[in-house]
Amino acid sequence: MKPPPFDYVAPSSLAEALQQLEEGGFDARPLAGGQSLIPMLNFRLARATLLIDLNGVDELSFLHVSDDGSLRIGAMTRQRAVERSEDVARAAPLLAEALGHVAHPQIRNRGTIGGSLAHADPASELPAVMLALGARFRVEGVNGDRWIPAAEFFFGPFMAALDPGELLVEIEVPALENGDGWAFEEVARRAGDYALVGVAAQVRVDGAGVCSSAALGYVNAAATASLAPSAAAILVGEAPTPERIAEAARAAATDDCEPPSDIHASEAYRRRLAEVLTRRALDRAFARAAEAHEP
Ligand code: FAD
Repeated sequence: MKPPPFDYVAPSSLAEALQQLEEGGFDARPLAGGQSLIPMLNFRLARATLLIDLNGVDELSFLHVSDDGSLRIGAMTRQRAVERSEDVARAAPLLAEALGHVAHPQIRNRGTIGGSLAHADPASELPAVMLALGARFRVEGVNGDRWIPAAEFFFGPFMAALDPGELLVEIEVPALENGDGWAFEEVARRAGDYALVGVAAQVRVDGAGVCSSAALGYVNAAATASLAPSAAAILVGEAPTPERIAEAARAAATDDCEPPSDIHASEAYRRRLAEVLTRRALDRAFARAAEAHEP
């Protein structure tokens, strides 16, 4: 398949890209790694009369840890660079662990963090991870920028809270704290396939072994990447015993998830996966959190 004809521009600065996006109107689209956009154009699932190639906008490609310990990632940073970064392994190990499940290395070499998040595919790992991490996103248009919490960014399948003319420019992940634990679990038919269901768990325990915060982000368990507030409420303020974890996993699968039925899996199977994977992820996340408090 070939895409319909489009014009192509290659800006070399963010200001130039934003101007071109503003002037291009509704049918102008930013091109990042092209790993989702190009196939969608080829299959005529997306429309664009102007592609604005962000690959020459160097200022969107960065990764560093701030003085306060938060991780800052430019939207055009390649998924593989984030996966292999020692800063990410230290500051946001959940992100590093989950990235190993995104497609294949060849695709991660080209695909960007910002492209995956702006694409807002409910079957993608990164939106669920950003929800669990409590990340926030900086978006910018010709008239300025604003921050959007991850919990307000994904509002429908393939729909992100970007206004026309806005680009996602930066992702901020809060600092890891002592007593934090994390784990990512998913089931896919083959390595590199999109997950049937996945779960990202980020938890914290205090010195007495009580859970002080818990966030669970889900892949393919609803129409968008989603959180599990009922499950989190069962965990917070309690010791994470096997019984408590099993109760939270049941609540996640029954009350928090609204999985689709499609050719890949039924709703019932996805609910079952959500329960089992939540339990596994919480077991590993709380074990890591406990290690942090060991003398
Ligand atoms: P692009 O494809 O260039 O863009 C995606 C969309 O985001 C477009 O609408 C584009 O206009 C918009 N966009 C891009 N950057 C910005 C920005 N800065 N601001 C605003 N809008 C922007 N992904 C998974 O998560 N899990 C998988 O298992 C998985 N498997 C895959 C398997 C295959 C065979 C392929 C080809 C892809 C797979 N992907 C998977 C998708 C991959 O992760 C893509 O890299 C990602 O979804 C999009 O990133 P990109 O940089 O390629 O963005």
